[in-house]
Amino acid sequence: MPLQQTIKYEADRDPHFADWIQSVAGGENLRQCIQCGLCSATCPLSLYMDYTPRRLINLAREGFKKEVLSSFTIWLCASCYACRAECPKQIKVTDIMYTLKRRAIQENAFPKRFPIPVLAREFGKMVFTFGRVNETLLVIDLFLRTNWLRFLSMTGLGLNLMRTGRMSFLPESIKRREELRKILGSLEGKDEFLTWAGPVAKLLDEKEMLK
Ligand code: SF4
Ligand code: SF4
Repeated sequence: MPLQQTIKYEADRDPHFADWIQSVAGGENLRQCIQCGLCSATCPLSLYMDYTPRRLINLAREGFKKEVLSSFTIWLCASCYACRAECPKQIKVTDIMYTLKRRAIQENAFPKRFPIPVLAREFGKMVFTFGRVNETLLVIDLFLRTNWLRFLSMTGLGLNLMRTGRMSFLPESIKRREELRKILGSLEGKDEFLTWAGPVAKLLDEKEMLK
C-alpha cells in the first residue's frame, strides 16, 4: 500500500502561485491575511469543506497550488459573501474562490467526477457553442461524465419530462453566435477561458474571431 504523505515540504510549493492570485482582480490582499478564522466561523459551508476558508487562504498564499486546486472547498463555496463581509483585512475570499475555480478548470485539476466543476465547464462550453443551454443535453452530459449509474436510474423521469414537453432534446441556438463568442473571448481571464473554449472555437472554425 503506498504511503500517504502528510508532511508538506518546500519542494511541494509553487513559489509563483500567490503572486498570480494577487495579480488577478480581487486577490490583491491575499498576503494580508492574519489567520483570525472569522471567515471560517462565518461560512455556512465550512463544516463540509476539506479545507476551511481560513486554511485554504493560508495554503494558497504559501503556494500549495495542488492542494488548493484539487480541493472540494472551492466548489462547495456558495458565493454568499459572508466571509468577505466579516474579514477584518478586506480580503475578497469569494473572488479568490472564483479565481481558483477558473484555474482548476483550466488545469483540469478539480476532483474527478465531482459534479459541480464538470457542470460549470460543460455549461460554459454549451453557452459558447450555441449561445443557450439545453437542459436535457447538459444533464445527460453531466451524468455520463460523473455518475452514469445514476443516469440509468433517472431515465424514466427524463422521458416523462420530455413527453410532457418540459424538456427537449433539440438544441436551441441564438443568432449571431460569433458576436457572443467575441464578447466571451474579450472578458477578463480570457487566457483561462480559451484553454477549454479554444478547441470548441477551432471545431467551429472561428478561433480567429477571438484574437
Ligand atoms: S477573515 Fe480574513 S484575515 Fe481572517 S482568516 Fe479569513 S481571510 Fe484571513
Ligand atoms: S462566500 Fe463561500 S467561503 Fe465565503 S462564507 Fe460564503 S460559502 Fe463560505
